[in-house]
Amino acid sequence: MQISTTPATQPVTDERLAEILADPGFGTFFTDHMFTVEWTPEKGWHDARITPYGPITLDPATAVLHYAQETFEGMKAYRHADGSIWTFRPEKNAERMAKSSRRLALPELPVEEFVGAVDALVRADARWVPDPEGEKSLYIRPFMFASETFLGVRPSHHVTFMVIASPAGAYFKGGFKPVTLWLTTEYTRAGRGGMGDAKTGGNYASSLVAQQEAYAQGCDQVVFLDAQESTYVEELGGMNLYFVFKDGTVVTPSTTGTILEGITRASIVEIAGGLGHKVEERKFSIDEWRDGVASGDIVEIFACGTAAVVTPVGTLKWDGGETPAPTTEAGELTTKIRQALVDIQFGRAEDTFGWMHKV
Ligand code: PMP
Repeated sequence: MQISTTPATQPVTDERLAEILADPGFGTFFTDHMFTVEWTPEKGWHDARITPYGPITLDPATAVLHYAQETFEGMKAYRHADGSIWTFRPEKNAERMAKSSRRLALPELPVEEFVGAVDALVRADARWVPDPEGEKSLYIRPFMFASETFLGVRPSHHVTFMVIASPAGAYFKGGFKPVTLWLTTEYTRAGRGGMGDAKTGGNYASSLVAQQEAYAQGCDQVVFLDAQESTYVEELGGMNLYFVFKDGTVVTPSTTGTILEGITRASIVEIAGGLGHKVEERKFSIDEWRDGVASGDIVEIFACGTAAVVTPVGTLKWDGGETPAPTTEAGELTTKIRQALVDIQFGRAEDTFGWMHKV
């Protein structure tokens, strides 16, 4: 892919950048540039460019604003101690976006073009990748949307793929402490044949009211059950779940089309296996959660995803009851797995899995 570059005429000053990187928060500040490429049935992907970051103009009849035909990804770039910059399994994000795009009747962006676009933006904005102290990183948001001006309900004949980036600090303000979860019994996230395993805005739009309910109940995140039987634990609004048993077995809900196939989740299957744990990907019921904590068989629970890496899970509340936290602090395996992952990501441990990609 030929990428043209128009550098920002007013990039952030060194002083301001230092201020931002000292406390970047999450998703608030954006780098100096953005990547854009367009698609039409006649020309395929064309006009790839890096331009100064800024607003885009959309006709009010742009299809995505009405029918939500869009997909996105979330990934990070990490600076290592020697100053080099790396991304974590970027081809997995590319493959997942291609899968999401197939589900949303959007064109697929080839894996190498996706990775090339991310690399090009990270190189253009390399000074925005924070130093590794405090495990800060540059969050990268690739996204694709129906950009045709047309109100008919059919796949768009004009599609735009963009990449933007935003420096990131700790995702949860509380730090590495157990989060309290709200079990929604009213809302579900995805049904059979729906788009639960696609990373598309509609899934997040539908989760917001449940998330609101969670906040109103004093909880940090919401847990969704399966839509058919309201029995099996699926995932959180933006993270996958893991349960650690007393005998060392580690269980995560299987990916059967209704949950997002997290890249952190898949990496932990391998890390936990490598640490000698038996890893089971299977259906996991809400009764098993409640009974397992009550009997002491479940000794740790954690959630995982790109933004927060690994987060211990504490109390689970629902309308009329709750099940206590298996641990008051982060559990031993939770801590070990998180450490193993971030050590690979920040280049502090050998990348034995070959997961890191040098930008
Ligand atoms: N589930 C959902 C619904 C998510 O949005 C995310 C974040 N992408 C995850 C799980 C975790 O996926 P990953 O480990 O690839 O970030």
